[in-house]
Amino acid sequence: MTLPTHARTVIIGGGVIGCSIAYHLAREGRKDIVVLERSKLTSGTTWHAAGLVRRLRPSATLTKLINYSIDLYGELEVETGQATGWTQTGSLTLATNEDRLTNIKRQVSLGRAFGLEAEVVDAARAKELWPLIEVDDVIGAVWSPADGRVNPSDVALALSKGARARGVKIFEDTAVTGLQKKSGRISGVEVGEHLIEADEVVIACGLWSREVAAMAGAHMPLYACEHFYILTKPLPEVQALGKGAHLPTLNDQDAFLYARDDVEGLLVGSFEPHAKGLPLDRLPKDFSFDLLDEDWDHFMPMMENALRRIPALEKAEVRMLLNGPESFTLDSQFMLGESPEVPGLFLMGGMNSTGIALAGGAGKAMAEWIIAGEPTMELNEADIRRFSPEMNVLGALEARIPEVLGRHYDNPYPGRSMETARGQRRSPIHAGLVAAGARFEARGGWERAVHFGGEDAHLPLSFGVPKWREQVGREVEACRDGAAILDQSAFGKIMVQGPDACAFLNHLCAAQMDIPEGRIAYSQILNRRGGVESDITVQRHGPDTYLMIVGAGEVVRDLKRMRETRGAFRVEFTDVTSGYAIIGLAGAEARRVLQATSNAPVPELKRFGFAPVEIGLARGWAGRLSFTGEEGYELYIPAEMAMAAHEALVAAGATHAGLYASGSLRIESGFRAFGHELSPGTTPFEAGLGAFCAFGTGFVGEAALEGPSKALAEGVSKRLPTERQIVTVLFDDPEAIPIHDEPVYFDGRVVGQITSAAWSYRFGRSVALAMVEAPLEQLAETTVVSGFEVEIACTRFAAKASLKPAKEAF
Ligand SMILES: Cc1cc2nc3c(=O)[nH]c(=O)nc-3n(C[C@H](O)[C@H](O)[C@H](O)COP(=O)(O)OP(=O)(O)OC[C@H]3O[C@@H](n4cnc5c(N)ncnc54)[C@H](O)[C@@H]3O)c2cc1C
Repeated sequence: MTLPTHARTVIIGGGVIGCSIAYHLAREGRKDIVVLERSKLTSGTTWHAAGLVRRLRPSATLTKLINYSIDLYGELEVETGQATGWTQTGSLTLATNEDRLTNIKRQVSLGRAFGLEAEVVDAARAKELWPLIEVDDVIGAVWSPADGRVNPSDVALALSKGARARGVKIFEDTAVTGLQKKSGRISGVEVGEHLIEADEVVIACGLWSREVAAMAGAHMPLYACEHFYILTKPLPEVQALGKGAHLPTLNDQDAFLYARDDVEGLLVGSFEPHAKGLPLDRLPKDFSFDLLDEDWDHFMPMMENALRRIPALEKAEVRMLLNGPESFTLDSQFMLGESPEVPGLFLMGGMNSTGIALAGGAGKAMAEWIIAGEPTMELNEADIRRFSPEMNVLGALEARIPEVLGRHYDNPYPGRSMETARGQRRSPIHAGLVAAGARFEARGGWERAVHFGGEDAHLPLSFGVPKWREQVGREVEACRDGAAILDQSAFGKIMVQGPDACAFLNHLCAAQMDIPEGRIAYSQILNRRGGVESDITVQRHGPDTYLMIVGAGEVVRDLKRMRETRGAFRVEFTDVTSGYAIIGLAGAEARRVLQATSNAPVPELKRFGFAPVEIGLARGWAGRLSFTGEEGYELYIPAEMAMAAHEALVAAGATHAGLYASGSLRIESGFRAFGHELSPGTTPFEAGLGAFCAFGTGFVGEAALEGPSKALAEGVSKRLPTERQIVTVLFDDPEAIPIHDEPVYFDGRVVGQITSAAWSYRFGRSVALAMVEAPLEQLAETTVVSGFEVEIACTRFAAKASLKPAKEAF
């Protein structure tokens, strides 16, 4: 077979990910696909993975993708004749402390939202399931019978076989040495002197992906770590199980360990808390079916944990300490999608040691995205557009990634934040926030003030009543009755200018953008299916000039969509995020405090208006929107004057509030947030935001929403003909502490999931927003419907729900 000079799609990398994308593209009917592998298929990381596949995951997206993978791995042999080694052994996850038990019970509850059954068991039952373990310290465990394992190389080979059978051409020993672009779009790949022109290129090069993406100027923030497991020679205790019998996969997260039987012996691996980063230049250029050096000094603490849990290991002869490279991402979620910088270039990687489990589902999702031109399912948390180029700084990756591996088994407590690579992006008023005692969390590279009680009001973290409850209560009170500074400077700011600015924005955004100068519009950006791609506000500064304020993590995503939507519109857009601070000033005293900073009069503003304002020595403009639902202003101030404004506000008596306070007020006010209530699979009608859609302006997604819109206009139905709706939920019991994603029950069946939750200081109980599919008629007819239940860590809590915001409904 000779290398072609043209292909519709070139996939670079023949690991499990590249093979899965090729298989799914071909299965979807795509023709003319070429896979290029530098060495042999599976020779990178895939061949030595432990092959564990666990269905229960902390998020809906991951759970769905992995469930698809497992179904596929079970069927591939019939289709391709190549076995995948899928064996349903079940998995056993131990808890040796209350918080771990709560966490694994939370996962059981989450699984129930998807019909996944898992059982909470006691130590004795755990010992029955895994007879080799010591259970003296085990206080509970979760038995998940549907989990299992595969042979990773065989999965990749079965996928490649299925792909070949559908016409995919796979070239081994073929290294890509360069990428070509025409007018900014990907146009081909170089293999030495040979050029293959291509309409689309997919990078699936595992830990080498970042460097390959850089060949086209694209960003793929991932970094490798050394990753260890031991393999023992056969053990009598394992042999005693009998031929063909297997142990479940064992997860002992408190000891940073996992284990399974392997050829009559054991495989014991770890996610050790202090992992070893792996600079790429330490790997030889021809690294293929290779491993890294054993490092017993490093592994010894894990070995000691393993010996305590599995005493039989004491007599075991260790065959090898396997040390293989694997790549991780800054937020421990994998990434996929079209490069925001280079159209036609698709990227998938940073699998965070779940590449085998995810390959089937994620490969399918990527293939569908390539064909449809946009995601066809909920992929927000994995979407590559969450990463800005700032997050691809090598120094930040080197600092953060070992911590990501080390925290793989951490309990995902509310308030948890990475400790490394901190201080990368600081608000223009950061110093003022520090002086006020801010406790920061790292979000998307930004330091965000979450409350002002410092360390003392933060640690230790808990799934129960958080340490900061009283502190945040004081901040909430200030946001209502005082004048509280809420730093929102991390919000994205995109300047939109040009003679067609208004027409362009009316096409891009669902709301009416032909607003007077000095006014602000609230809108969603939708996809063609009518799903929400972004939640924004837009200020009109002049006939041809607008400023869009977008979510802190959505700038890259929104700019990409804007470029794709621009067409022939004469419009330019510029990311000016770094140029301005945004200081929210919330509370009944906001006007008085603002006026006290300057003798220049504070502008009289109606809601959705903005006007120039002076704050002490600083000048900017004030808007009246409210992100919390309370009285107040948003102050937009050039970055270099922001500290002067902050100092003037503090001198005039303003106090501070953090994200936890604004989150609680947001949920009480029923305000929807992108990534929670709003997502590409949710329409404005489902989110209760249909009234903000300006039908007739020709916005993207309008056609998809016409049905519900007509029904609304004609009053056909008392409620909208949507199949689900966002509701507000108020718990009866103050002990209920939901976080996210918990299943919601009505009439004994799962009807939805929590999308945001917080403590309500108004009601003295938790309040939440949830997406539910029943009982919609009843909700439309009655303000408050009782009889809901929410399952938190396997306990059901009674709740009521309403279509109205909590502060109006309850
Ligand atoms: C010790 C260990 C245990 C693991 N256990 C599990 C587990 O139990 N369950 C699980 O789900 N995951 C596990 N993983 C993770 C899993 O192995 C990876 O996530 C997965 O294999 C990544 O697949 P990939 O296709 O992205 O990368 P790779 O398998 O590395 O494939 C990338 C390919 O790209 C090729 N390539 C690179 N550059 C070029 C170029 N310029 N031109 C052409 N080709 C190129 C490479 O040669 C390589 O073959 C484990 C990983 C390790 C290290």
